[in-house]
Amino acid sequence: MTNRQLLLVSRPSGEPTRDNFKLVDTPIAPIGDGQLLVRHAWLSLDPYMRGRMNDKKSYAPPQPLNEVMIGGTVGEVIESRHPSFAPGDQVVGMGGWQEYSVVSGGIRKVDTSRIPLSAYLGPVGMPGVTAWYGLNRICEAKPGQTIAVTAASGAVGSVVGQLAKAKGCRAVGFAGGPDKCRYVTDELGFDACIDYKAHGDPKELYGALKAATPDGIDGCFENVGGAAFDAVLRRMNEHGRIALCGMISGYNGEPIPLRDPSILLTSRLMLQAFIVSEHMDHWPAALTELGTMVATGKLKYRETIAEGLAAAPEAFIGMLRGKNFGKQLVKL
Ligand code: NDP
Repeated sequence: MTNRQLLLVSRPSGEPTRDNFKLVDTPIAPIGDGQLLVRHAWLSLDPYMRGRMNDKKSYAPPQPLNEVMIGGTVGEVIESRHPSFAPGDQVVGMGGWQEYSVVSGGIRKVDTSRIPLSAYLGPVGMPGVTAWYGLNRICEAKPGQTIAVTAASGAVGSVVGQLAKAKGCRAVGFAGGPDKCRYVTDELGFDACIDYKAHGDPKELYGALKAATPDGIDGCFENVGGAAFDAVLRRMNEHGRIALCGMISGYNGEPIPLRDPSILLTSRLMLQAFIVSEHMDHWPAALTELGTMVATGKLKYRETIAEGLAAAPEAFIGMLRGKNFGKQLVKL
């Protein structure tokens, strides 16, 4: 049996290219005692992967060259010599950009009777917990407050706004283009969504945000950095709270200017950056709530699906350009 794998073979400078990756077929060795073989059904593509491709100081070590790219996966156990897992078990783990993985732990069984398997990489997985943690533990969102979120149609942002609405907040999103904005308001139930691409001029962008946030902004969930973040900072109420989750507008090396950092001082804002994997103690509570909401149809989500492992690099490059609409997945 062979395993198709995608290796990172060179580090991108700026936007990644197809040449940074290499597709290889590798034989799968027989599993040993305590090991199991998982056949991946879905691979998650996430913005953090771009940071891992750089060889520079960060919160996690760089992805080693000529090794399988790191990545979250869900799939099925097809062979087991591990006491806690049996063939047929559906599992979530960090299997990487490959069709199979041989592991001895680090995976978790999931129940697919009410929640589709792929959702464990989205709203009931890492992106969902990220939204839950930033909104509840950093923004500390309360009923009646206004919460702003960038990349609002995406895996994380879409959950932030829906959780905020469920709490009785006003949810205002930013997204690129009319289709994404319409989805954010009409399908996800946000109160407003600003198409930042239609407001290239910072004054206009601020005007649109002001109209959408008559009572100012109490909590900011920041995924992007740049013009929308500048506008949100200006609309923040005194002692407002900012969950700094991501700055995707700079992941390919673009500068991310902050026009007026003095607002942090004059409005006495609290800004807390976070990495969700450093808060594992919150995952069980978050996953229970998110799982219940998805199973009961209270949390909606959308997926963009690339077909086959070979399509992963293109899909990843596209995600960093905003081509995805909802959670970017690869169907293996
Ligand atoms: P998304 O599904 O939101 O996909 C990325 C989206 O970012 C694109 O669809 C695009 O939407 C938007 N985007 C890309 N470039 C720009 C740009 N230059 N300006 C504005 N928007 C842009 O991805 P995720 O939900 O998985 O991730 C969202 C953010 O959360 C990322 O910054 C990511 O790094 C961060 N994150 C952080 C975690 C943590 O622990 N701190 C954990 C997980 C995610 P549009 O077309 O609307 O612009």
